[in-house]
Order: sequence, then structure tokens, then C-alpha cells
Amino acid sequence: MKSLKLSIVIGLAIGVVVLLLVIREKQREAVFYPMGGIPFKIVAYGRSASEFRDDMAAVKERVFELERVFNRFDGTSELSRINGAETVAPLYVSPDLFSILLDSAKWHRLSHGAFDPSVTPLIELWKRSGQTGRLPADEEIATAKKRVGFEHISYTDDGRVLFTKEDMSLDFGAIAKGWIADEVAKLLKKRGVKRAIIDAGGNALAFGDGTFTFGIADPRFSGRKELMGTVKVSDGGVVTSGNYERFVTIGDKRYSHIINPETGRPVNNGLTAVTVIGGSASDADALATSLMILGKDRSIELLKEFPECEALLVANKDGVWHVFASASLLPRLRLAGPWADNVHSF
Ligand code: ADP
Ligand code: MG
Repeated sequence: MKSLKLSIVIGLAIGVVVLLLVIREKQREAVFYPMGGIPFKIVAYGRSASEFRDDMAAVKERVFELERVFNRFDGTSELSRINGAETVAPLYVSPDLFSILLDSAKWHRLSHGAFDPSVTPLIELWKRSGQTGRLPADEEIATAKKRVGFEHISYTDDGRVLFTKEDMSLDFGAIAKGWIADEVAKLLKKRGVKRAIIDAGGNALAFGDGTFTFGIADPRFSGRKELMGTVKVSDGGVVTSGNYERFVTIGDKRYSHIINPETGRPVNNGLTAVTVIGGSASDADALATSLMILGKDRSIELLKEFPECEALLVANKDGVWHVFASASLLPRLRLAGPWADNVHSF
């Protein structure tokens, strides 16, 4: 009798393990490299092989469609068409371009002007400096700044756009990857996917039941896979913006690819990386870049206005690393080695 009970228990236990393995097997992932080689990774749960194959085909189609809208470096993209536009008459734009413009206008306002996709002339000026090795002169910065200012873009209710200043051009590099991740999430949900992670080159979004564990890249290394820690999240965006992956070197100094529109210069305020957790991926993307520009103190102030977003700020002061984290994040945050030594919560 006893041994019968025992074998039932063992049988059940084996059944549960097999079931768990089957459930686990239903996690499927794929990576592709749009937008000039950015790894775009999808992890979906509970999909059959053929469902996932069709999911991926639909995802790629949508991502490539959006790339043809937003890619500033493709002369035939829709963005290139409006970037070269005369300022005399409003232009009709696609619903996708109009929508990202409206989201950008929202973040330009919420970040008090720090987030400004019209900084393109300054981005180009600093990129050239990286190539020639000569710092831009003050007058060159002032000249480029004359073509910058998101407040000089106006809209009509029927989806037309007008640049009210001459020779303006937009760059959605600080929001597009998050924005595209949101679009992919919408598409997957529509296709019946209940749980997934979408990661557009470090601009990620998770949806579905349960928690997800995300690694946070170690900002001391570029192009490497070391983690400074992990964070557990439920639904929402997980986006990191930083100075450590993309920068130009002029002389022996590194300059960030993020421009402070106020000064016309690359940000240099002691913040090395910012991770924003929560909200949509596009909101987290735009907010992370905004915080990089605003610096630690103004970031902590601004974050009070977004209770749905948590943040992790990494700063270097006199050669010492400090981590500033939303208090609510601490129980879900695991930091490795040196990072755990100087954690401050806000
Ligand atoms: P990444 O693209 O490395 O993930 P971000 O999301 O922070 O990083 O975006 C940085 C990009 O945004 C820059 O490469 C540039 O194209 C653009 N950019 C730079 N400065 C600003 C700014 N002040 N506002 C909006 N976009 C900016
Ligand atoms: Mg960003």
C-alpha cells in the first residue's frame, strides 16, 4: 500500500517535471539585424513552431516597413523626403511618421526641451569632428544651433507637418527603436501571442503573465556582454541609454552621441548610463535619453512626474562609480561586485 502511494507520488512528480519541460520548450526565440545591423530579438512563449515562423515573418515585414519610414540614412525613406523639404507648405506624412512626431513632441515638452529630434545638424557637426579630429569652433556650434528647435515644427489635424524654420532635419535615433518595439508588441498581441519579450538593440519590452529577468549591461565595457546586474520586471519597457556604446573620439577624449540641445555639445555631466523600467518602450527610450541629458539631480526631479517609470542611473564621480536607483526597484535589483558597494536610492 505504502509503495503504491510512493509510486503514485513519484509518477506525479515525473509528470509535473515533464509538463514543465513541455511548457519551457514553448519558449521560442529568433534574432534578425535590421536598422544597419541592430540585433532585434523576439522571445515568445506558448507558440508552436509554425505559429512562431509566421509571427517572425509578420514582425520582419513590419520592422522593415518602419525602417523605410524612419531611417535618416536611407535617402529614399519617408523621413529623408521631409528632411529635405522646403518650409513653405505643410506636407502630408504617413500615420507612422505622424505618430512618432506626436510622441516626440510630447517628450520634448515633458523633458523641458532636453529631448529634441531636431538636433540633427549638431549630431552631424560632432560626427564630422570625430572624423577630422578637430573640435568644432563656437561659431560652428552656434550656426548649427540655428537650425535646431522642435518647437519650430507644427502640425495640422489632418496629419500634415510644417517646418517653420529653414533647413531643419529630424533624427529619431533616441525614440525609434523603442517605438518599433511597441509596434511589434501590438502586432504580436493581435496575432494571439500572450507572453513575449521584444528587444530592439537594448530597447526592450515585455508583456504577459509572470516576471521577466533582464540583464543590465556593464557600462565600463562597450560592445561586450558583461552585466552589471539583473532586474526583475513585469509588463513594460526596459531601456538603457548610455555613453559607453556609441561615442566619437576627438584628441584623446570621448564625446557622447547624445547632444544637449541647450549647449549644442555632447552631454558630459557624470552620468554614464541610464536604464528606465516601465511604461511603453518608446516612452522608456525617450525618457532614458532625456535623463542622460538632464544629469543626475534633474533626472531624479523629473522622475517624480512619472510614477509608472523606475530608473537606474550610473554615474562616475572622481573615478568612483555610483548607482542611483528608484527605491521601489531595490528589492528586484541584483548588482554584481563593485556596483553593489555604492547604491543610493531615491
Ligand atoms: P541608443 O540609440 O544608443 O540606444 P539613445 O536612445 O539615447 O541611444 O539615442 C541616441 C541617439 O539619439 C543619438 O545617436 C542621436 O541620433 C539622437 N540624439 C542625440 N541627442 C539627442 C537629443 N537631445 N534629443 C533627441 N535625440 C537625440
Ligand atoms: Mg533613447
